[in-house]
Amino acid sequence: MDRSEIIISGDTAGMEWRLPVLRFKGSDPKAPKIHIQAALHANELPGTALVHFLCEKLRAVESAGEIRSDITIIPHANPIGAAQSHFGELQGRFDLGTRTNFNREFPLISVKDRDGLVAELDRYNAVDRLKRQLMHMALEADLVIDLHCDDESLQYAYIDEAFWPEAADLASALDMEAVLLSDGESSAFEEAIGYAWKHETSEKKTRLPGKLSVTVELRGMRDVYPDMAKKDAEGLFNFLAARGAIAHPVTLAPFTGPAVPLDNIEMIRAPEAGTVLFHRNIGEEIKEGELLATILTRPGMADGAIEVRAPQAGLIVTRTSSRLVRRRADLMKIACGAASKVVRKPGALEN
Ligand SMILES: [Zn+2]
Repeated sequence: MDRSEIIISGDTAGMEWRLPVLRFKGSDPKAPKIHIQAALHANELPGTALVHFLCEKLRAVESAGEIRSDITIIPHANPIGAAQSHFGELQGRFDLGTRTNFNREFPLISVKDRDGLVAELDRYNAVDRLKRQLMHMALEADLVIDLHCDDESLQYAYIDEAFWPEAADLASALDMEAVLLSDGESSAFEEAIGYAWKHETSEKKTRLPGKLSVTVELRGMRDVYPDMAKKDAEGLFNFLAARGAIAHPVTLAPFTGPAVPLDNIEMIRAPEAGTVLFHRNIGEEIKEGELLATILTRPGMADGAIEVRAPQAGLIVTRTSSRLVRRRADLMKIACGAASKVVRKPGALEN
């Protein structure tokens, strides 16, 4: 394993950021190249824990000469976000300086213009330099895995339909409880990588066999435990082996969980502000009309509570960890059998 650092100069005097990059050299130039990164949203740590144990496993097979693919791993992809402690609370999702989500506004370019990402870095601020460096590394790979987590959440992933069902092996290896089939229409890291591949030539590709760019949601923010991280590391290792990155025999069971388009996700929002009392939890199957939450809009008053009910039957995939919610705040994502009646804009479900 080789360790290097990318230095990103800060936007003020005396500041610079150091981004550690770990690399394993593969023996087979024809094996798919791998890019794995964690904690682009700097406060989402299950992926960082996963890659710690994954690297342990990779070092073991490396010494046995069993690594076939070049594998690049960035255990914590966002040192800028990790340093944003605001009134004692880590702000890892948005850049405080520009209010931009760290996982949006990635350049939408063709893969043939990859070199241009880092050609004139002096023209960009530190966050954009970081984004361009990450994208530049990832576009060298064939399989790109961006490790995130949700708030309170099942294990799931956003997978562009261009990679489905080929990517069911990843869903199986990581024991995903749902797959959300995305439309490739946002500027998130994973979708910018897919965009670059789709636009390699003037004719846009709709299928990308042998490629994968995916956002994995490794459960919730607080699901950072040794056993979980080791199990996830084992799962990702098995996926890499199944794709030929490691000379290690493995058989993956077929994926049997739901794979639903984003149009079938009911985003349950708070109709009013208040204290939320959840009746149902992640992982539960609910029926149409079932009571999901009570919101105490005017606590103590006879008419001070409202009910939030399920618009259709489905599986509760995520839930907010906030218990005081603002009007229109996201309460839950429910994966359903039919499209939501609420019209969705193309792109990501959340800001
Ligand atoms: Zn995230």
